[in-house]
Amino acid sequence: MKIFGRQATRRGLKIYDQFRIMKTRLGALDSERGRNFCRACNSNNVMQVLDLGNLPIANELPITNHEIIDLFPLCFGICTNCGLGQVGEPVSRERLFSDYRYLSSISETWLRHAKNFAQNTVAALKLTSSDLVIEIASNDGYLLQYFKNSGIKVLGVEPAKNIAMKASLNGIETISEFFGVDTAKEISNLHAAPNLIIANNVAAHVPNLRDFFGGLEALAGDQTLISIENPSILNLLKENQFDTIYHEHYSYLSAFAIRSIGAEFNLNLYRVESLSTHGGSNRYWLKRGELTEQEQIDLNSFIDSELNSGLMDMLAWSKFSSNVESSLANLREWLESCKQEGRRVFGFTAAAKASTILNAAKISRDEISGIADSSPEKIGRFLPSLGIPIISIEDLKVEKPTDILIFAWNISYEISTLVWEELGANVRCWIAIPDLKELTHE
Ligand SMILES: [Zn+2]
Repeated sequence: MKIFGRQATRRGLKIYDQFRIMKTRLGALDSERGRNFCRACNSNNVMQVLDLGNLPIANELPITNHEIIDLFPLCFGICTNCGLGQVGEPVSRERLFSDYRYLSSISETWLRHAKNFAQNTVAALKLTSSDLVIEIASNDGYLLQYFKNSGIKVLGVEPAKNIAMKASLNGIETISEFFGVDTAKEISNLHAAPNLIIANNVAAHVPNLRDFFGGLEALAGDQTLISIENPSILNLLKENQFDTIYHEHYSYLSAFAIRSIGAEFNLNLYRVESLSTHGGSNRYWLKRGELTEQEQIDLNSFIDSELNSGLMDMLAWSKFSSNVESSLANLREWLESCKQEGRRVFGFTAAAKASTILNAAKISRDEISGIADSSPEKIGRFLPSLGIPIISIEDLKVEKPTDILIFAWNISYEISTLVWEELGANVRCWIAIPDLKELTHE
């Protein structure tokens, strides 16, 4: 097992040094970004809130349980200047995202959400066949397919080559690049300004947020609207969603932070919608033009509610840190008692969330015998560092579990319903966030 970071091995330090780049308008590109430098506003006001220890990369799933796993520090901090929540980046984005295994189209709940968004947006913006919609981090084309079905021109940008290939095979034109100023210019050379740019659940995964917003600025025309959807940092704070912290998830956004960075790149946040997805997301709308009076009033009111919820209150963040410690202790204690009673505990969904919580709590195969997942890309692999196998739902049935810990708590209803249908109503289903709780039949 190798540990990279500040007290790193020589290899770790070399990786750190590779990403030491000059500070420019497009960002303080320094290995300290996210730790000492804010990746949104460039200030050095990042206050550390939570140290989860040295953890593996959540989405790197080893093929055997005796592979050497690299560990990297995972610390979460808040910028006291612009409010951006962030983690450091001791590991390159190429390593994190070039072979990403998450297929958006695997979740029916997510597909329904995508379809509703596409249909509502086509209607609200009165998009026609001459209009262009660009999606950044378009994954396997799960969302753009619905725009395409409505006759709209679409273009995807997806850095994971394996997933971009799937999208292209499905008929969604996709450029396989990371998005930033360079990619935006390439697109602008080939296409007119898009009517809509969608960036759903991607801004958080961008190490250089300033290059990302610079790209949006370069790609947007005067009439372009930009839609950015992301989990709200307030849910992390209020609902103890610390398992959404992992190395790939660099930034934790709020309207307060988006308004601040958007303004630096001539993109004005003019509307925020609250969504139930991912345990509480916001959809931020940006445009080049000025806000109407009503938009300004509504936005101020939204941001006031964020500040009243403790976004910039360091005492609230200190309490969050204590809550995380007690949640981890409760989980360990429960799993220990299950082991004593001879119960057969399995997990469900080998999501990044599972890796964070189990590694932070130091849970091994002795406590959780396996994790079921429906993704063929994950089945047969192991959760990093812990040696817990990822199994199919068919194999889970054979194991006859007594208890299922659902890691994807945001779709716990869907999963518990499936578990009770497939494995019987006596199987106990649990979630560990915001704290350990048994789910009840409805
Ligand atoms: Zn900042």
